[in-house]
Amino acid sequence: MKVISFAKVRDTIKDLVQKANFELQDDVLNVIKEMEKKEESPAGKEVIKQILDNAKIAKKDKLGLCQDTGLAVFFVEIGEDVELQKDDGLKSLRDAITEGTRAGYEEGYLRKSVVEDPIRRKNTGDNTPAYIHWELVPGDVFKVTFIAKGGGAENMSAVRMFAPAAGQQGIEDFVVETADKGGSNPCPPIVVGVGVGGNFEYSALLAKKALLRRPLGSHNSDPFYADMEKRLLERINNLGIGPQGMGGRITALAVHVEAFPCHIASMPAAVNIQCHSHRVLSFEM
Ligand code: SF4
Repeated sequence: MKVISFAKVRDTIKDLVQKANFELQDDVLNVIKEMEKKEESPAGKEVIKQILDNAKIAKKDKLGLCQDTGLAVFFVEIGEDVELQKDDGLKSLRDAITEGTRAGYEEGYLRKSVVEDPIRRKNTGDNTPAYIHWELVPGDVFKVTFIAKGGGAENMSAVRMFAPAAGQQGIEDFVVETADKGGSNPCPPIVVGVGVGGNFEYSALLAKKALLRRPLGSHNSDPFYADMEKRLLERINNLGIGPQGMGGRITALAVHVEAFPCHIASMPAAVNIQCHSHRVLSFEM
């Protein structure tokens, strides 16, 4: 049986949150470079060039890619055959992830972006709590995926409960309308995660998972949803918002759609917007 040490999880997360905030991964860089070639507006092209220059500097000097280093969001897949080892005074896996987040944000001089109460707004001072989604899976898998989720992009996200009669067209119009409403606020070119189906809360989770469960720019394995992704990307890029809202062809880097069974009377849909600073990183033990 695989044994997972809490201390090892904590230490790995401390490094992971820093690396994710300092370095855009190859899949993201490749899509941005591809989009630089396609951008027609000089201002838009210049913005994409600056995004790429910024990524080089951040990696070289170990600086945050953006001042908003985000909420620390984790998706944890734990195999049913994994044994958890409480060591180094850590009483739970949640504690290990929290401590790793706290230490990583502190060591990397990453901005602390969490308030302890949504109305009274006092900063927690260490970028915790971490936002953790747990998934129990078969076997001895232990995989953690991190996304740094900035406020500007998260604020432009939306959930809507459709009647089934709204159909595919209703969902697609909603995705494009959400991207259009966001305008320059989510720091385009954006990544658009779409969750279709499930129920109210499940659709939002699907939309977030759509941002991080596969390499940027890859397509859904179901050709129906792969076609939807291509069509939506085309429509969003025809909005003319452009990089950082300066006008241009490239408003989005990618659209990823994930679907799930739902109730016969409903058709939920959620759109989770992510900015060009798409900081996602995983590890497995
Ligand atoms: S939306 Fe993204 S790029 Fe814009 S400020 Fe927030 S984290 Fe930074």
